[in-house]
Amino acid sequence: MPPPAPVTAEATRLEALSKYDVLDTEAEPQFDFIVRLASELTGSPVAVLNLIAEDRVWTKAAVGLPQGRQMIREQAYCSLVIDSPQGLHIVDLRQDARTQHLALTVDKGFVMYSGVPLCASCGRPIGTLAVLDTIARRLTDRQLDWLEQLAHQAMALLELRRKQRELQEAQAELQRLANTDALTGLMNLRAWQEANVLERERLERWGEGHAVIALDLDHFKKVNDTHGHAAGDAVLRAVGSLLARSFRKLDSVARIGGEEFGVLLPHTGAADAAVLAEQLREALSELQIPFGNLELRISASIGVAHSSEASPEGTQALADERSYAAKRSGRDRVVSTTEPLDP
Ligand code: GH3
Ligand code: MG
Ligand code: MG
Repeated sequence: MPPPAPVTAEATRLEALSKYDVLDTEAEPQFDFIVRLASELTGSPVAVLNLIAEDRVWTKAAVGLPQGRQMIREQAYCSLVIDSPQGLHIVDLRQDARTQHLALTVDKGFVMYSGVPLCASCGRPIGTLAVLDTIARRLTDRQLDWLEQLAHQAMALLELRRKQRELQEAQAELQRLANTDALTGLMNLRAWQEANVLERERLERWGEGHAVIALDLDHFKKVNDTHGHAAGDAVLRAVGSLLARSFRKLDSVARIGGEEFGVLLPHTGAADAAVLAEQLREALSELQIPFGNLELRISASIGVAHSSEASPEGTQALADERSYAAKRSGRDRVVSTTEPLDP
């Protein structure tokens, strides 16, 4: 196998830039303020905060030029800063071989350029803070110092933005984990209870009825005892996956206990829920769950209840009760009424 290609400095730079997720974003007042200060403090009519991407230079904030503007790298003075860690300071762009032919010099009449790099934590420049003028001049040491300080501020802001985004992503992931059953990927008990509370509120406010299906696997312990805990887990995963693909997006499907599952069906009538539960029972009893060279089978005792039959808090309990009734009357069946069961 050939050795892996060496990571180039440019690749490191682009990777650093991508972590800030700033290209093509909207204007933000903090960055606008930095370029305004750069323009004021250096007495320059134009100030830009640019990011240098793979094939273009994109303007995050600017005075005297439009925000969100972009140009190919070859035409941008800022591209030259990548190879000038101390910054690039050109008194007369018309006299410098690197810049005299560029459109900004020839057509726009820019004469002076002074830019300092925005350095990522890896040390590589991801952009520049630069000022431009239409007369030949050199920034004073004090003005240069301001420019460098402002570039540090811009970088600190970019870091803050990145950390805030990472924090938000971590919080979202934490929230997802807190609501998810690790084995099946379904909602866990906590999320299920929250969904039920919300549904009750909907019922109280708009009178919109809902149904609950409660499901308990039959003789599940036997699967564990006969084939081991891993086989039991495989069954739970397969049941979870069947449940997840059997219902609508707005239904809540949860693993609410060891081998107990619940489905909350908003805006669903009692008869429709009973039909869905029967289809589910059938699908479960036909499920062949591969485990090693075995194919495991399972069935479930299922209870169905509708919010119109119980107090708002009672629908779930009634569905549970009926699932026990299904269990008592022989398993692998659906109970959806409180009528006496067939012997
Ligand atoms: P029944 O038909 O009466 O419902 O009998 P059952 O065996 O399904 O019910 P029981 O309550 O006796 O046993 C449930 C078993 O589920 C016991 C427990 O060890 C097992 N269990 C609970 N959580 C998990 C899990 O995450 N993985 C595995 N493999 N087993 C689990
Ligand atoms: Mg059980
Ligand atoms: Mg069981």
